[in-house]
Amino acid sequence: MNITDTMEVIEIKSKYGEHEMVIYPVVIYEGEQAVLIDTGIPGGYDTLMQHIRPGFSVGSVILTHQDLDHIGTLPQLLEAAPGKLNVYAHTGDQPAIDGRAPILKASPERLNGILSTLPQPEQDAFRSVFSTETPGNVTHTLHGGEMLPFAGGLQVIHTPGHTPGHISLYHPASKTLITADAMVINEGQLMGPVPQFTPNMDQALQSLNAFRELDVDTVVCYHGGLFRGDLQQRLDELVPSL
Ligand SMILES: [Zn+2]
Repeated sequence: MNITDTMEVIEIKSKYGEHEMVIYPVVIYEGEQAVLIDTGIPGGYDTLMQHIRPGFSVGSVILTHQDLDHIGTLPQLLEAAPGKLNVYAHTGDQPAIDGRAPILKASPERLNGILSTLPQPEQDAFRSVFSTETPGNVTHTLHGGEMLPFAGGLQVIHTPGHTPGHISLYHPASKTLITADAMVINEGQLMGPVPQFTPNMDQALQSLNAFRELDVDTVVCYHGGLFRGDLQQRLDELVPSL
């Protein structure tokens, strides 16, 4: 699904734990490099690469947050570009992404359950990359408010609640809002974050106020894909007024 000539939403269906999962990462083509916004589930590298245009290599990765279904193929992306991959993440989730703190929602049991379906080398690579024994992964620490130099400018919006360092991204040139997991589409309806996976739901809903000033034609949700209705009206319905 093209947003612009150089910005694409890709759709990946895969089995994740017990369930079928569909995710919508975004890829931006910049010179000869691809910039990925979120990397999919552990074990999903080959499938992800099938969606990258031929002749491009992934040079930069923006991780919207630390959840496993967003950081999953970082080990393979790092391996494919040794010492050269730019990794952007918010300071609030950097410790987990660097392997200095536990991944918030990945209890040992859950992590084992997800990794145990993968070949041993992939399990080992995942554990190694997100370990205190190896160097950190984030090369560019975000705080919110930055304008990243991709696609003519990509604004970072800190939207904590789903995780402490969760970010969303706004692309003014195409009036596109990439919510990551701050919003989802469920049965065609734009919703707030999924309560079951959102430790601080009050904060997550308040974070949506950051979208109120934005001029948005297209909303991209990592879980659910594209929404082209009236965002501001949905925010009025979803966010409790102060
Ligand atoms: Zn997610």
